[in-house]
Amino acid sequence: MRFYSTRNRNESYGFAEAVIRGLAPDGGLFVPEEIPRLPPGVISSLGSISLRDVAYETVRPFVASDIPGPKLEDIVNEAFNFDAPLVPVGEPSPSGEGGRFVLELFHGPTAAFKDFGARFMARAFAYLRRNESRPLKILTATSGDTGGAVASGFYRVEGIDITVLYPKGRVTALQERQIAGLGCNIKAIEVEGSFDDCQRLVKAALSDGELNKRLVMSSANSINIARLVPQAVYYASAAGVLKRRGGAAPAVFCVPSGNLGNLTAGMYAAKMGAPVDLFIAAANSNRTFTEYLSGGAYRPRESIATISNAMDVGAPSNFERLSSQWTADELRRLIVGVSVSDDDTRAAIAAVHRDYGYVLDPHGAVGWQAVSRLRGGGLPGDALYTVLATAHPAKFAHVVEPLVGPVKPPPCLEEAMAKTVHSISIAPEFNELKAVL
Ligand SMILES: *Cc1c(COP(=O)(O)O)cnc(C)c1O
Repeated sequence: MRFYSTRNRNESYGFAEAVIRGLAPDGGLFVPEEIPRLPPGVISSLGSISLRDVAYETVRPFVASDIPGPKLEDIVNEAFNFDAPLVPVGEPSPSGEGGRFVLELFHGPTAAFKDFGARFMARAFAYLRRNESRPLKILTATSGDTGGAVASGFYRVEGIDITVLYPKGRVTALQERQIAGLGCNIKAIEVEGSFDDCQRLVKAALSDGELNKRLVMSSANSINIARLVPQAVYYASAAGVLKRRGGAAPAVFCVPSGNLGNLTAGMYAAKMGAPVDLFIAAANSNRTFTEYLSGGAYRPRESIATISNAMDVGAPSNFERLSSQWTADELRRLIVGVSVSDDDTRAAIAAVHRDYGYVLDPHGAVGWQAVSRLRGGGLPGDALYTVLATAHPAKFAHVVEPLVGPVKPPPCLEEAMAKTVHSISIAPEFNELKAVL
């Protein structure tokens, strides 16, 4: 499998090179030359084989030329060491108004879905760099959860240093401890600006000629193809399970979206043959992609702070990937966009707790509310709706607890809360970042 830049079809790269570079030399994002179709025997068994087996089959065609099968099996077994249960919430029957499935993606070490991509990527990097003597410096910008997941995924991985940039005052106390509490090979930088500033700084560093002479650098954002591909796995597995339960009913996956990495991975899964009929891109008040999907121009802008802060993205980086692989018409046919206010997000958290005894985090609640708004009005009432729960509600206790009462944190979050923050503060200027690096 070869990979191209979204901005240049003339030069191709192998998986290892695309992963280590992170970003193409022309500033574009790497995309696979084709999205391979899974063999029919695999597609028909998606709902009955383990998540790890789905992972192996889904990832293999992308990496086969650089990671041999038995090694990939090891990587996948270590990366997918927790489950992604599909939980019925309310009455899951196709005619049930309230009921739907929640795909819980928060059972990893930092309690957010980004653990899937980060754990796979860390192990893939370690393998691909096994013969190198110079350390690899990985730069990553985070709006909240990426940093923690990447820090945890790479913590103490030999030969790799991590630098995480996060927007000052826009991540929670817990997220900050997950990012800046580990130390060792993990460096944390607090930027006096927005997530978009952090992202811009990382992009500038990765394409800076002088830094590239001095350092071997890469990125670990959702722009890295090694983060994206493993995220297709849980869609494929869940879609297979739904097909077995729901027969001919269409499967709709609702994805709480920010940088659109998760949604892009879902599109890959569908193209590979996973039985997904439609996606909902659920956004908070950052409506860039929502407006595009409803026929408007793509107009990147400053991000707006909301209670679902991991989705506070005004210029979603994976849009470039989506729009290089699908036409606008295709995207608008396969994805429906909805934007949900903070008030409606809070109302959904309270209502789902009251009606079903289930606690959503603010990101999952944006997804839940998006389904409520579309089902019956525009989208079929008889489809099987699945909302991706991208984080554990205890990660956002400051939002959730005033609405539903105390939420018990999983052990991994209790450990993180006990850590001390060590980070470096900078203004959102490239020269300041450069000095730190
Ligand atoms: C990162 C994140 C999102 C957004 O995912 P994208 O791939 O950036 O669209 C949603 N929810 C949570 C909890 C996240 O951490």
